[in-house]
Parts: sequence; structure tokens; C-alpha cells
Amino acid sequence: MSGLMFRVGNGYDVHQIAEGLPMWLCGVEVPSDRGFVAHSDGDVAIHALCDALLGAAAKGDIGLHFPDSDDRFKGIDSKKLLAEVVRLLEQDGWQVGNADITIALQAPKLRPHIDLMRQTLADVIGTDVSCVSVKATTTEHLGFVGRGEGCQVWASVTIFKKA
Ligand code: MG
Repeated sequence: MSGLMFRVGNGYDVHQIAEGLPMWLCGVEVPSDRGFVAHSDGDVAIHALCDALLGAAAKGDIGLHFPDSDDRFKGIDSKKLLAEVVRLLEQDGWQVGNADITIALQAPKLRPHIDLMRQTLADVIGTDVSCVSVKATTTEHLGFVGRGEGCQVWASVTIFKKA
């Protein structure tokens, strides 16, 4: 009798916010006069998601696979990093079950962008949009997120393969 083997992963990332930079979240550019300080495009949500996926498969973390000391990853579209992480997992037979992302950002409001974010991630992962959840919250003006100094993201995933 054959069954399915499941794994759970979680990921976490923080990026600093500064004036005049693009604000990429979940593969979508959010209109804002402020954005994320980073070596890549700064998509803090995709970075947390990549770490969750790598964690589920016990394959290290995003810094191991895409070091920020490597100029190949300078300004890179984080969707490419996510696609590569999914490919690494598929090499070991893993498929993504679902992903659930929580973004803590004081401003701007992300509600108008959530559906496009979910679809964008689902397309890169190669799964149905019903398997991808993106949630947004403020921190009620508390802490570094509340002061608009940074953005914090948590991601949880399941992956599975035939046992
Ligand atoms: Mg990052």
C-alpha cells in the first residue's frame, strides 16, 4: 500500500523600508513612494515563502542557495528565486500542498493587491490559487513595523510526495 508523505515548513523575513525604492510583495509591485532595502528586488514575502519551502524539505535556507554576496542575485526578480526553490524540491519529488503568508506592514494597505499576489505566487509555484493564501495586517503603529521602518513576513507551507 502506498501513501503520501507530508512535511510542514515555516519561514520568516524582515526588510527595511526606505524612500524611493520599489515595493515588491508576493511578486507584485505595490504602488508606494517607499520600498524595501535589499540585495535582490526586496520581495520580503517571497523570501519568507522560499525559506518555508526549503525548511519543509530540510534543504537549508535562502541565504545558502542565493547568497547576497553573489552579484548574480543583485536586483534579481525574487519570482526567479521562488521558481528555483520549487525546482529544487521537485528534484526530490516534493510538490507544494499549500502556502499561507502573513505580511505585517503599516502602509500602504495591501487589500487591493491580495488577489493578484495569490495568483502570481500560484503561477510561479505551478499550483491552483486556492492553495495560496496571502494575509496582511498592520501592527497598530507598534514597533518597527508600526513606525514604518520595516516589513515583516511569516510563511507556512505543506509539501508532499508519494511515500
Ligand atoms: Mg530577504
